Amino acid sequence: IEDPRIHGIKTRIRVVPDFPKPGIMFQDITTLLLDPKAFKDTVDLFVERYKGKDISVVAGIEARGFIFGPPIALAIGAKFVPLRKPRKLPGKVISEEYVLEYGTDCLEMHVGAVDPGDRALVVDDLIATGGTLCAAMKLLERVGAEVVECACVIELPDLKGRERLNGKPLYILVESH
Ligand code: AMP
Repeated sequence: IEDPRIHGIKTRIRVVPDFPKPGIMFQDITTLLLDPKAFKDTVDLFVERYKGKDISVVAGIEARGFIFGPPIALAIGAKFVPLRKPRKLPGKVISEEYVLEYGTDCLEMHVGAVDPGDRALVVDDLIATGGTLCAAMKLLERVGAEVVECACVIELPDLKGRERLNGKPLYILVESH
């Protein structure tokens, strides 16, 4: 039985066909942010799931993981660590490259932000192929953290990104086909 808040969240996500290029159904969460009740419900659902689970770090993926990650981190008493695109972080970083449809992309994390034994939650707005979450998990595991779970607002299940997470649990609120 689905939480009654999920329906409101689903209806606030705008789907934009052919953005940023033909064939892509872009899931736009900026319309969700315009509805304070739906935005709060989104954060609350994650907080209810992770409160008391001893999560010490919320790692948010640039850019939309920076919108949902920090309110979750504050509510569960965890630190927030941004995982950023290349050359954005000023300190010493470690990097993980991952493959895109055309070419590669990369995520970076500050050295010293996450410690061995940290219990991590990875947050992004959406999982498509799973490549981004996979790179994020590698960064955290390289420094000795334990990834407890990945959390996204939206899953595109047809792309089977879940299968790329090496059995790591993924929690999502909304599926889009
Ligand atoms: P992937 O690595 O293929 O799982 O892609 C996930 C990342 O790309 C996330 O950071 C998403 O914000 C973004 N993304 C991929 N596909 C979409 C889409 N259809 N709508 C919105 N964002 C997307």
